[in-house]
Amino acid sequence: MPEPSAAMKWWGWGDAPNPVELPPHAIDFLRSELGVSCEPTPPAALEEVRLAEPALPRRAEPKLVLAVGREWVRNDRLTRVTHSSGKGYVDLVRMRAGDATHAPDAVVYPADAGELRAVLDACASDGIAVVPFGGGTSVVGGVEPARNGMAAVISLDLARMARLEGIDERSLTAEFGPGIRGPRVEEALGRSGLTLGHFPQSFEYATVGGWVATRSAGQASTGYGTIEKLVCGLRVTTPSGEIELPPVPATAAGPGLRQLLVGSEGVLGVITRATLKVRRRPETRRYEGWMFRSFEEGAHALRALEQGGMVPDVARLSDESETRMTLALTGEGSLRQRAGLGYVRLRGYGGGCICVVGFEGDRTGAARRAPVAGRLPRRAGGRSLGASPGRSWERGRYMGPYFRDALLDRGVMAETLETAHEWSRLMNLYRTVGAAIREALEARGTPGMVMCHISHLYPDGASLYYTFLAPQERGAELDQWRVVKVAASDAIASAGGTITHHHAIGRDHAAWMRQEIGELGLAALRAVKARLDPAGIMNPGKLFPAQDDARA
Ligand SMILES: Cc1cc2nc3c(=O)[nH]c(=O)nc-3n(C[C@H](O)[C@H](O)[C@H](O)COP(=O)(O)OP(=O)(O)OC[C@H]3O[C@@H](n4cnc5c(N)ncnc54)[C@H](O)[C@@H]3O)c2cc1C
Repeated sequence: MPEPSAAMKWWGWGDAPNPVELPPHAIDFLRSELGVSCEPTPPAALEEVRLAEPALPRRAEPKLVLAVGREWVRNDRLTRVTHSSGKGYVDLVRMRAGDATHAPDAVVYPADAGELRAVLDACASDGIAVVPFGGGTSVVGGVEPARNGMAAVISLDLARMARLEGIDERSLTAEFGPGIRGPRVEEALGRSGLTLGHFPQSFEYATVGGWVATRSAGQASTGYGTIEKLVCGLRVTTPSGEIELPPVPATAAGPGLRQLLVGSEGVLGVITRATLKVRRRPETRRYEGWMFRSFEEGAHALRALEQGGMVPDVARLSDESETRMTLALTGEGSLRQRAGLGYVRLRGYGGGCICVVGFEGDRTGAARRAPVAGRLPRRAGGRSLGASPGRSWERGRYMGPYFRDALLDRGVMAETLETAHEWSRLMNLYRTVGAAIREALEARGTPGMVMCHISHLYPDGASLYYTFLAPQERGAELDQWRVVKVAASDAIASAGGTITHHHAIGRDHAAWMRQEIGELGLAALRAVKARLDPAGIMNPGKLFPAQDDARA
């Protein structure tokens, strides 16, 4: 039984028996900053959730049952509701309100590539849309079961294809089935003293197939590389047949087909195997906190590190608002005491920006790199805060989505978006997008808090990750979200940033794909799709802008 997606709350994050509450000082802070009443509003009960009758064509069901077995074609309420959306703000607002009218007609669980082949054949012949479902943690509408004119839609849950298939210790590579989740990846590799080093905030639930399909980035990707840098071999089952790309360290055999399939978001086919580069487990992790007087000063220090060859494995610089919010939500007083954060009193750094820089590796290497690297932030104006802020960040690194549920409970809109640009244009992008979000919120008469951090460094640039909080407009939550999302995305496009650094395109960013890759680029991608998926069954409504989209 693939209990995985069923175990996750369908209206939020984590399992229902272990809710995370906001501490009283955080509630006080939200009341005073956003003016929200903070009265809890619980999500709808499962029995109240609105679902359409399953509409799988009668002739299709026996074919699917023949392909995977009766037990693995499911259409019970809980299974359909759990597969009706991902974990973005829009998804959670709809699910909390009991709206699963877009749920799939059935959820199908193939056990291997052979069963998957039979499922895709059945769906292609009967005009059924197929939505690959890994951990279901997409925040851009990537797993929304859109029919787009098809007779029905199934969610294709890959939880039964969740094995570590093999490790090549000499080459330091490992082969995975697509449905294996983060903790199991690390557990399985850990037995051989290895790590993938891929730790997105969604690590607990996201899968290898989902990471590869979305070009995911982890919290240590500055050092380990984003998933696209870790992929060396791939197998993909498409409606037109199999594509097998064996693991090789490098190849000059024409354009990079591996890279075309990485980030394909289920619209071309299903990733059934991925061979990924792994590393020896680090003996030690040294995370150090720094304080900068401004975001710009901190960004300058990170650039110096990256370009000076002292690349940290983890780097995270919060702007002034995020620094202030972090301290307020963790309880500034207690945090200061617990972590020894005397920096709040550092003269000249009052409203400053906190930064965590981490080095991992063998004891001597990490111990040597960290202090040498420390000279650069100091030279750039930073003040060292020692190891405590790093430890504190490490402890809380997966807590964000749990707190988001608690914020939604209290009527607070909590949304994130991300982009990236070259160093020379990063600050302009930072200001432009931040201003657009603030103005969009103000135009609706809502006070808002807009925060940002840099978390992935490259020699030529970095990513920006925004979080914004505002009181929810009750009854108009999705309109409110749409206005802010469009303003932020238009601002990203106008400042020349990418529409997404690691969340992918899905449904929410599709309208900006034309600006991102141009008319001909889109036509080339559509031609590839037409060859691999002639019936257009694979994840419709994702990645490509709708032909009649005003923005497309
Ligand atoms: C709280 C939270 C924090 C997050 N933090 C990060 C982060 O730090 N870094 C980051 O990169 N992302 C992050 N994300 C986004 C999300 O977790 C990633 O996009 C992740 O890679 C999705 O993995 P998944 O297994 O859940 O895929 P799903 O959500 O199930 O699917 C994502 C997309 O990939 C397709 N897909 C899934 N499996 C396959 C397959 N085997 N073959 C073909 N297509 C497939 C789906 O159809 C869909 O389009 C976060 C999301 C949440 C909710």
